[in-house]
Formats: sequence, structure tokens, C-alpha cells
Amino acid sequence: MPELPEVDLVCRQLDESVAGRRIVSARLLRERLSPATPPEAFAEMLAEAGINSVGRRGKFILFDLANGRTLVTHLRMSGRFMLLGPDREDPKFTHAVFHLDGDERLVFQDQRHFGMMKIVATEEIPFTEDLKKLAPEPFSEEFSAEYLVMTLRRSNRPVKLFLLDQTKVCGVGNIYASEALFRSGIHPETPASKISRPRVIRLRQAVIDVLTESMEISRSVPLDPENIGGSFYGDDADGEWNVYGREGMACPKCGGTIIRLSQGGRSTFYCKRCQRK
Ligand SMILES: [Zn+2]
Repeated sequence: MPELPEVDLVCRQLDESVAGRRIVSARLLRERLSPATPPEAFAEMLAEAGINSVGRRGKFILFDLANGRTLVTHLRMSGRFMLLGPDREDPKFTHAVFHLDGDERLVFQDQRHFGMMKIVATEEIPFTEDLKKLAPEPFSEEFSAEYLVMTLRRSNRPVKLFLLDQTKVCGVGNIYASEALFRSGIHPETPASKISRPRVIRLRQAVIDVLTESMEISRSVPLDPENIGGSFYGDDADGEWNVYGREGMACPKCGGTIIRLSQGGRSTFYCKRCQRK
């Protein structure tokens, strides 16, 4: 699943590719991609809509349209956008097509079928289901040390699972949670409420740092119109991370062994020596 820096890259590249252009017509090919808006309404609400910009809230991609609506998209496991010329056929697993001015079309392709789209009035965005519950953006002022101290204090869940909860901390996925806990020296099973204030402050900084570093790497990814955003880490992330995906390997800080454990059905990686309970 793409993490925040990847979604951020997708948004920047979409903005670069389609902002200022017009959706001439739109087709929803897989109804369940957009359960709240059936294909006829989908086509009607997007026809002749200018695209002001493409941004995001958490991992939701927001196409801000000139007709007062916003097309909300979530890539989930495998959704991706492709900008294709008239000579190219729709690829397999094409679930929505947006014909743009200039004879190009933006295709939403989703091999795993978990992607989501919905069309909402732009002024309703802050109150929209899914979006209204999201925690503050990690780069916003609201994501303060005080916010994190107060929010952690109210939870007894293991801190790793707390970090993955998008209503508590927005934008941290499985990789970044492991990396941020390693950097702040916190054991992933520590109950959230038991983390001392100085450690929470270190954890907040670690979250911001790991996301910032990845976003910087993502800025050097060239735009490939047929695979917008792509996956700049892929599955083979060896060497990119301190602990993630490095079970049995040496900790880069102390030389100890990296351990893998399962939390909430997903893998967590940590160093037994650097991250004591
Ligand atoms: Zn270590």
C-alpha cells in the first residue's frame, strides 16, 4: 500500500499533469469503485468540469473542480493513475476514465479492486465521512508535542498500533511506524499511555523526520505519465531502512539483531537493544 510520501508524490505529479485542464467526459466502469455515485451521476457530475488543482488530505487524493465539487480518491492497495494518449488502449483493470481536453485521458487502474472514489461538494470536504475523522496532518501546527502527549495518554494500545490509527496520527503507515519508533528508541509494544513526555517529543520529531526524508527522495522521481507516482520504494526496500524488512540483520546503531513481530496482523521490526520495554 502506498504510504503518505508516495501519495504526496502522486498528488504533485497529477497536479503537474492535469491542473488547469478540463474533464470533457468521465466514465465509471466498475460501479463498486464509487458506491455512492452510480455511473450516470458520475458522468454527469464530472462532465465539462475544469480541474483547479490536485491535493490531498491524509492519503485521500482531492481533485478540486471548478464546478464546486471535489473528486475524492483513495488508492488503497494498488490503485494508480495513467495519462494516456489516443493511440493507447485502456489497460486491464481500468475502473474509471476521464477524457481530458487535448485528446488525452486519465485512467484509474486498480488490479486489487480496493480503490475508492466519491464526488462531494467541496465545501463539505471537512465534514465528509472518512475525512472528518482524520488526525492533524503531520506537517501542520496542530500536530504539536502537546497534541501527541494528550492523545497518547488516553490510549493503552501498543504504540505501534496507535501510530497506524489515522484518527490519531495521520499519514503514518507500517514502514514509517517501525522506523519512527526505532529512531526514538521506543519498543513497539509499549502501551501508548506509558511513554514519557521527553520520549513523546522525540517520537513526534522522528515521525516528521522519516516522512520529510522520504518526501525529499520522492521529489527526485521523474514524472512518467503512464505510471503517475508509481512506487518509488517497491517491495525490495533493503538498505533504505534502519529496521523495516531487516529481520535477522544487524542494527545500524548497535549491531544487535533486528527482530520481527506481528502486531494487528502486520509485521513490525525493531532492535531489542535500542528499543527496550
Ligand atoms: Zn540497536
